[in-house]
Amino acid sequence: MSAPFKEYQSLLNERSIIIVVVVVLALMWSVGQLSLMAALVIGTVATVLLIQLEIKRRMETLQMRRATAREQRRSSQQGAMTVRANTLNRLPSPVLLIDDQQSVVFANQAALDLLGSDIIDNDVFLYLRQSAFVTALDAVLTGKPAENATIRYTSSNERSFDVTVAPVPASEDGTAGPQAMVFFYEVTSLLRTEQMRADFVANASHELRTPLTSLIGFIETLQGPAADDTAAHQRFLGIMQREAERMVRLIDDLLSLSRIEMSRHMAPTTTIDLCQHINSAVSTVVGQAEERGIKFSFTAAEGVKKVVADSDQVTQVFLNLLSNAGKYADRDSTVHINATPHHSGRHVLISIRDEGPGIAPEHLARLTERFYRVDTARSRKMGGTGLGLAIVKHILLRHGSQMDIKSQIGKGTVFSFRLPIPGVSAQESSETKL
Ligand code: ADP
Repeated sequence: MSAPFKEYQSLLNERSIIIVVVVVLALMWSVGQLSLMAALVIGTVATVLLIQLEIKRRMETLQMRRATAREQRRSSQQGAMTVRANTLNRLPSPVLLIDDQQSVVFANQAALDLLGSDIIDNDVFLYLRQSAFVTALDAVLTGKPAENATIRYTSSNERSFDVTVAPVPASEDGTAGPQAMVFFYEVTSLLRTEQMRADFVANASHELRTPLTSLIGFIETLQGPAADDTAAHQRFLGIMQREAERMVRLIDDLLSLSRIEMSRHMAPTTTIDLCQHINSAVSTVVGQAEERGIKFSFTAAEGVKKVVADSDQVTQVFLNLLSNAGKYADRDSTVHINATPHHSGRHVLISIRDEGPGIAPEHLARLTERFYRVDTARSRKMGGTGLGLAIVKHILLRHGSQMDIKSQIGKGTVFSFRLPIPGVSAQESSETKL
């Protein structure tokens, strides 16, 4: 019932009481029955009724005001809660609030995305079953000191989180019992980096161990069964030299990689002559490639001259890509090197195309991983370390560039990348990566 209607209704009652009293008094006076006593009694009753009505009306107004104030307080509290919930929803880390019945009373958006939108009001143990979590939640909800055990949660899509449980005290007005806040800290990329580091150490050790084992084997043979076999000596020493050289190449590549990684965030500022660098790289690898009948053809478009690059590192890029072409291209074929202005007008596009067996599409994405090879035996036979393309990738990243690899089985492979021409800032060039 609305307030104006209530007021109207009470006014009507007052009026009707006054009218009734006046009519009764007038009637009694007209028939000569109105004594002073009767008038006093009727007047008193009427006044009491009016006072009662007034009190009732004031009480109602007071109650209405209280109800309005309560409503305002509740809505402002809800507003504050909405602000808190919105803030938590913006957190990229999943957060849950669990009540003393182990039910999920709140889950931010990240938690809903991780555990499912039906988690609210459900038992949290349906989603997190690890015994360490059960123990931690129980301790927090019963006020016991919590153990500092790391609770690891791995989702179905292989995301890993470190989960912590913290107490939320019961509310002062007693409307909410003790609760627990569950916080998920994502460690997926951290674990991946750790795994990559462990794999790298294992791969590097394995790559070094293979030539070392072979060297030790030959030394033992030379000391024992082949001690007097002078013909075998020359053969074995030749193999030992190749194995030792392989170890040197591997260590050189590992050192190069770590040097490049150290300078990763310092974009090069020196200007170099591109054609001169390509020609000098070609003359370094041509001798080895000629053994397989491989020729190099270099074409530079007009105007292609200077680029912003680190001289030593760019030389290493060309040496690695050209020696790969020399190793893997078909015998008696030609490797085409092209340098043309990039359509952006701010870069030179360089491509190295060989006429080789090509690389199957499933290998392309992984080619620049350390120690990844399509054919390990062939790579080893050709003296490869499995680090050449990883080095190229990291050098190009430092130059704000990326390598594009296109290959057709039976036809050959094209490696292309671009380098900035002088006058273009490193930032501009990295914004328009290939
Ligand atoms: P590697 O020392 O083994 O050559 P890289 O990192 O330089 O190591 O190359 C990785 C792998 O990519 C090689 O083992 C080879 O299988 C493949 N590869 C590289 N360049 C070519 C190419 N031009 N044609 C075919 N395969 C290639």
